[in-house]
Amino acid sequence: MARLLGLSKVPVFAEEGDAKITSEFGEIINDYPVEGQTGRHTALDLVRCTDGKTSETATITSMADGIIIAQRKWVKGFSSAKATAGNCVYIKHRNGMVSKYFHLEYGSMPEWICDGAEVKKNDVLGYMGATGYAFGVHLHFQVEDENGVCVDPEPYLLGIKSFDPEPPSPTAIYRLALKREFSSYDEAIKALNGLNDIGISTELLIRQK
Ligand SMILES: [Zn+2]
Repeated sequence: MARLLGLSKVPVFAEEGDAKITSEFGEIINDYPVEGQTGRHTALDLVRCTDGKTSETATITSMADGIIIAQRKWVKGFSSAKATAGNCVYIKHRNGMVSKYFHLEYGSMPEWICDGAEVKKNDVLGYMGATGYAFGVHLHFQVEDENGVCVDPEPYLLGIKSFDPEPPSPTAIYRLALKREFSSYDEAIKALNGLNDIGISTELLIRQK
Protein backbone atom coordinates (compact mmCIF):
# COMPACT_ATOMS: atom_id res chain seq x y z
CA MET A 1 0.00 0.00 0.00
CA ALA A 2 1.50 3.29 -1.07
CA ARG A 3 1.74 5.92 1.63
CA LEU A 4 1.60 9.70 1.52
CA LEU A 5 4.51 11.95 2.41
CA GLY A 6 2.20 14.09 4.56
CA LEU A 7 3.11 17.55 3.25
CA SER A 8 0.92 20.39 1.98
CA LYS A 9 3.63 21.11 -0.56
CA VAL A 10 6.49 18.88 -1.64
CA PRO A 11 9.76 20.76 -2.34
CA VAL A 12 10.47 18.91 -5.63
CA PHE A 13 7.07 19.92 -7.07
CA ALA A 14 6.13 23.50 -8.00
CA GLU A 15 2.42 22.82 -7.40
CA GLU A 16 0.72 22.66 -4.01
CA GLY A 17 -0.24 19.27 -2.65
CA ASP A 18 1.16 16.09 -1.17
CA ALA A 19 3.03 13.21 -2.83
CA LYS A 20 2.29 9.51 -2.85
CA ILE A 21 5.31 7.23 -2.51
CA THR A 22 4.97 4.49 -5.11
CA SER A 23 8.33 2.88 -4.36
CA GLU A 24 10.23 3.18 -1.08
CA PHE A 25 13.94 3.80 -0.54
CA GLY A 26 15.67 0.45 0.05
CA GLU A 27 12.75 -1.58 -1.30
CA ILE A 28 13.94 -4.78 -2.96
CA ILE A 29 13.17 -4.72 -6.66
CA ASN A 30 13.98 -7.66 -8.86
CA ASP A 31 15.23 -6.89 -12.34
CA TYR A 32 15.33 -3.13 -11.97
CA PRO A 33 17.78 -1.87 -14.58
CA VAL A 34 18.04 1.74 -13.48
CA GLU A 35 21.59 3.05 -13.70
CA GLY A 36 23.74 2.30 -10.71
CA GLN A 37 21.14 0.15 -8.97
CA THR A 38 21.74 -3.31 -7.63
CA GLY A 39 18.37 -4.76 -6.76
CA ARG A 40 17.42 -2.29 -4.05
CA HIS A 41 15.56 0.87 -4.87
CA THR A 42 18.04 3.70 -4.25
CA ALA A 43 15.50 6.53 -4.29
CA LEU A 44 11.92 7.48 -3.57
CA ASP A 45 9.38 7.25 -6.39
CA LEU A 46 6.87 10.07 -6.03
CA VAL A 47 3.61 10.99 -7.69
CA ARG A 48 1.91 14.29 -6.95
CA CYS A 49 -1.29 13.91 -5.01
CA THR A 50 -4.10 16.37 -4.24
CA ASP A 51 -7.24 15.60 -2.22
CA GLY A 52 -6.35 11.92 -2.22
CA LYS A 53 -6.13 11.77 -6.01
CA THR A 54 -2.88 11.26 -7.87
CA SER A 55 -2.02 13.65 -10.66
CA GLU A 56 -0.38 12.77 -13.95
CA THR A 57 1.19 16.22 -14.11
CA ALA A 58 3.72 17.99 -11.92
CA THR A 59 6.40 20.58 -12.46
CA ILE A 60 9.72 19.33 -11.08
CA THR A 61 11.86 21.88 -9.22
CA SER A 62 15.36 21.88 -7.74
CA MET A 63 15.62 21.12 -4.01
CA ALA A 64 18.43 23.62 -3.40
CA ASP A 65 21.08 25.79 -5.07
CA GLY A 66 23.77 23.92 -6.96
CA ILE A 67 25.53 23.12 -10.24
CA ILE A 68 24.30 20.70 -12.92
CA ILE A 69 26.86 17.91 -13.23
CA ALA A 70 24.92 15.74 -15.74
CA GLN A 71 21.67 15.84 -17.67
CA ARG A 72 19.86 14.16 -20.54
CA LYS A 73 17.01 15.50 -22.65
CA TRP A 74 16.67 13.28 -25.73
CA VAL A 75 14.76 10.21 -24.43
CA LYS A 76 11.29 10.03 -25.98
CA GLY A 77 9.62 7.15 -24.18
CA PHE A 78 10.01 3.81 -22.42
CA SER A 79 13.39 2.11 -22.57
CA SER A 80 14.03 -1.31 -21.10
CA ALA A 81 17.81 -1.14 -21.28
CA LYS A 82 19.49 2.02 -22.52
CA ALA A 83 19.19 5.40 -20.82
CA THR A 84 17.04 3.90 -18.11
CA ALA A 85 16.95 7.10 -16.04
CA GLY A 86 15.25 8.66 -19.05
CA ASN A 87 15.50 12.40 -19.23
CA CYS A 88 17.21 13.45 -16.03
CA VAL A 89 19.10 16.15 -14.13
CA TYR A 90 21.90 15.64 -11.59
CA ILE A 91 22.66 18.59 -9.30
CA LYS A 92 25.66 18.95 -6.99
CA HIS A 93 24.85 21.06 -3.95
CA ARG A 94 26.94 23.28 -1.68
CA ASN A 95 27.38 20.58 0.97
CA GLY A 96 28.85 18.19 -1.64
CA MET A 97 25.72 16.06 -1.96
CA VAL A 98 23.96 15.31 -5.25
CA SER A 99 20.22 15.25 -5.98
CA LYS A 100 18.96 13.36 -9.06
CA TYR A 101 15.63 13.70 -10.86
CA PHE A 102 14.70 10.86 -13.27
CA HIS A 103 12.10 10.17 -16.00
CA LEU A 104 11.28 13.80 -16.94
CA GLU A 105 8.89 14.31 -19.83
CA TYR A 106 10.43 14.66 -23.28
CA GLY A 107 10.58 18.28 -24.45
CA SER A 108 9.75 19.71 -21.02
CA MET A 109 13.27 20.57 -19.86
CA PRO A 110 14.25 24.23 -20.24
CA GLU A 111 16.93 25.30 -22.72
CA TRP A 112 19.31 26.56 -20.01
CA ILE A 113 19.74 23.10 -18.49
CA CYS A 114 23.24 21.93 -19.45
CA ASP A 115 26.36 20.61 -17.71
CA GLY A 116 27.91 23.28 -15.49
CA ALA A 117 24.81 25.49 -15.36
CA GLU A 118 24.01 27.13 -12.03
CA VAL A 119 20.73 26.16 -10.41
CA LYS A 120 18.77 28.00 -7.75
CA LYS A 121 16.37 26.44 -5.29
CA ASN A 122 12.88 26.04 -6.87
CA ASP A 123 14.16 26.43 -10.46
CA VAL A 124 11.97 24.46 -12.89
CA LEU A 125 13.79 21.40 -14.29
CA GLY A 126 10.96 20.00 -16.42
CA TYR A 127 7.71 18.03 -16.05
CA MET A 128 7.17 14.71 -14.32
CA GLY A 129 7.16 12.00 -16.98
CA ALA A 130 7.71 8.33 -17.74
CA THR A 131 10.82 8.32 -19.93
CA GLY A 132 13.44 5.59 -19.56
CA TYR A 133 12.64 2.57 -17.42
CA ALA A 134 9.33 3.78 -16.00
CA PHE A 135 5.98 2.00 -16.12
CA GLY A 136 4.00 5.12 -15.24
CA VAL A 137 4.40 8.84 -14.76
CA HIS A 138 6.41 9.50 -11.58
CA LEU A 139 9.52 11.20 -10.24
CA HIS A 140 12.42 8.99 -9.16
CA PHE A 141 14.12 11.30 -6.64
CA GLN A 142 17.58 10.15 -5.58
CA VAL A 143 20.02 11.68 -3.07
CA GLU A 144 23.70 10.75 -2.87
CA ASP A 145 26.36 11.75 -0.34
CA GLU A 146 29.89 13.03 -1.16
CA ASN A 147 31.04 9.44 -1.84
CA GLY A 148 28.20 8.62 -4.23
CA VAL A 149 26.36 6.50 -1.66
CA CYS A 150 22.57 6.73 -1.99
CA VAL A 151 20.84 7.93 1.17
CA ASP A 152 17.18 8.15 2.16
CA PRO A 153 15.76 11.25 0.40
CA GLU A 154 12.81 11.57 2.79
CA PRO A 155 14.51 13.66 5.55
CA TYR A 156 15.47 16.17 2.81
CA LEU A 157 11.92 16.36 1.49
CA LEU A 158 10.60 16.84 5.03
CA GLY A 159 13.15 19.59 5.74
CA ILE A 160 14.85 17.63 8.55
CA LYS A 161 18.10 17.60 6.56
CA SER A 162 19.41 20.26 4.17
CA PHE A 163 21.67 20.49 1.12
CA ASP A 164 23.15 23.74 2.37
CA PRO A 165 26.11 23.76 4.74
CA GLU A 166 24.99 24.48 8.27
CA PRO A 167 25.60 28.18 8.96
CA PRO A 168 27.60 28.73 12.17
CA SER A 169 25.57 30.31 14.96
CA PRO A 170 26.65 33.69 16.43
CA THR A 171 27.08 31.95 19.80
CA ALA A 172 29.51 29.47 18.29
CA ILE A 173 31.55 32.26 16.70
CA TYR A 174 31.69 34.09 20.03
CA ARG A 175 32.81 30.94 21.87
CA LEU A 176 35.56 30.29 19.35
CA ALA A 177 36.70 33.88 19.58
CA LEU A 178 37.24 33.37 23.32
CA LYS A 179 39.63 30.55 22.61
CA ARG A 180 41.45 31.75 19.50
CA GLU A 181 42.28 34.97 17.79
CA PHE A 182 41.43 35.53 14.18
CA SER A 183 42.57 38.33 11.94
CA SER A 184 39.11 38.62 10.44
CA TYR A 185 35.52 37.54 10.83
CA ASP A 186 35.82 35.59 7.56
CA GLU A 187 38.75 33.63 8.94
CA ALA A 188 36.71 32.66 12.00
CA ILE A 189 33.83 31.52 9.77
CA LYS A 190 36.22 29.48 7.65
CA ALA A 191 37.61 27.73 10.73
CA LEU A 192 34.12 27.05 12.02
CA ASN A 193 32.95 25.57 8.73
CA GLY A 194 35.50 22.79 9.21
CA LEU A 195 33.78 21.60 12.37
CA ASN A 196 30.94 19.14 12.11
CA ASP A 197 29.19 19.97 15.31
CA ILE A 198 30.07 23.54 16.09
CA GLY A 199 28.39 23.73 19.50
CA ILE A 200 30.07 20.68 21.01
CA SER A 201 33.48 21.17 19.42
CA THR A 202 33.87 24.76 20.58
CA GLU A 203 32.59 23.84 24.03
CA LEU A 204 35.40 21.29 24.30
CA LEU A 205 37.99 23.82 23.16
CA ILE A 206 36.93 26.22 25.87
CA ARG A 207 36.98 23.57 28.61
CA GLN A 208 40.47 22.46 27.61
CA LYS A 209 41.82 25.95 28.08
ZN1 LIG B 1 12.58 4.79 -8.82
